[in-house]
Amino acid sequence: MFQKILIANRGEIALRVLRACKELGIQTVVVHSTADADAMHVRLADESVCIGPPPSRDSYLNIHQIVAACEITGADAVHPGYGFLSENAKFADILAAHNITFIGPSGDHIRIMGDKIEAKRTAKRLGIPVVPGSDGAVTEEKEAKRIAAEIGYPVIIKASAGGGGRGMKVAHTEADLEIALQTARSEAGAAFGDDAVYIEKYLQKPRHIEVQVFGDGFGRGVHFGERDCSLQRRHQKVWEEANSPALNAEERSRIGGICAKAIADLGYSGAGTIEFLYENGEFYFIEMNTRLQVEHPVTEAITGIDLVHEQIRVASGGGLSVKQEDIKFNGHAIECRINAEDPRTFTPSPGTITHFHTPGGLGIRVDSGVYSGYKIPPYYDSLIGKLIVHGRNRVECMMRLRRALDEFVVDGIKTTLPLFRDLVGNADIANGDYDIHWLEKYLAKEE
Ligand code: ADP
Repeated sequence: MFQKILIANRGEIALRVLRACKELGIQTVVVHSTADADAMHVRLADESVCIGPPPSRDSYLNIHQIVAACEITGADAVHPGYGFLSENAKFADILAAHNITFIGPSGDHIRIMGDKIEAKRTAKRLGIPVVPGSDGAVTEEKEAKRIAAEIGYPVIIKASAGGGGRGMKVAHTEADLEIALQTARSEAGAAFGDDAVYIEKYLQKPRHIEVQVFGDGFGRGVHFGERDCSLQRRHQKVWEEANSPALNAEERSRIGGICAKAIADLGYSGAGTIEFLYENGEFYFIEMNTRLQVEHPVTEAITGIDLVHEQIRVASGGGLSVKQEDIKFNGHAIECRINAEDPRTFTPSPGTITHFHTPGGLGIRVDSGVYSGYKIPPYYDSLIGKLIVHGRNRVECMMRLRRALDEFVVDGIKTTLPLFRDLVGNADIANGDYDIHWLEKYLAKEE
């Protein structure tokens, strides 16, 4: 087991990882920018190292400084959290070259999944169902038209190097396609320095369903069920649940089994998430994230398994603490992402939190790094906390969520809490009847 883990992140996830390390009796080092000197994880860690000024590129993305912090403090492993360097293959390689363990998969696996064309090809080879479309990059308009006619309109053009929902264009007719292809390529080139794009069938009313997987480092793979993250705004997840209200146990174990086998065949090590669009009973792979996800707590709530403990165990060579047959799904869980944003316009609302009171009671978990008197710096993303609620079934979970949202107090800044108070009373949400476009339509109506 590791002696000392350096946490290369900030905010709620840095605290989340720190808690797991403390439970396992592992010493912790956190790195932070000058803007985060007063952050909760910095106060609670055994050691902290200031690695630079506020901009992420000079601090949380500064590989040189982070490796130096490992050397100074003698950390033998790095947990990257999510975002920042968590899917940076070069970072994983550099740590390996310094004999520091990256708590995540190999640089090669990160690289494959970071290139969407390569990821899709790999998924297909491993027997994962994919969205019908081009078999690789498309440059010629003629070829694009032939493929689109074959799979049928509407189609979506996506950037191979894409991420965060950028570089995607939908074409409804052959006339649209020409322009969509050109704009997608120039946007991809400008945003990612790589103008490779590919074509897929555009699914009209899908749900976003993702499977939590783990490779144990010894060639075995398991799945921890799925999460439904269909409630999104601008491709950003807002509310996540497990299990998905749309799946039955047979579908769950079928798609889970396919994913677990793929992970084993790939020889993957650590936590991963295989993301699908789901429509009319079919799953279509869209991408794989090679890290812990923001929404991992809903899976922890229904399985009772600490996924960060498992990540640390696997990275240290100790394998998983559970086998597939030990992973049982108990009840229902929902997570609300609480952002420091205006609940209608979603413009960021940094500033000082004058009062912070979190709900409690059975089935309630709040993961947050903020406190009364904490000043939210304007430099980073606006997630300030996650409310995770568990119940014996979805109805009990929703009742508890409504009560927890009533108790939650965040004064001094604007937050997205009022949005969740509206959603929890909505009939479609109560029925679990929503797709990936539902929230945008709902917000447009409310304006
Ligand atoms: P990114 O890495 O940029 O987030 P993804 O491939 O994960 O890109 O897609 C992001 C979102 O775009 C999906 O959650 C979905 O809302 C939409 N999307 C992607 N591919 C399709 C498709 N083939 N049909 C319909 N919507 C899609």
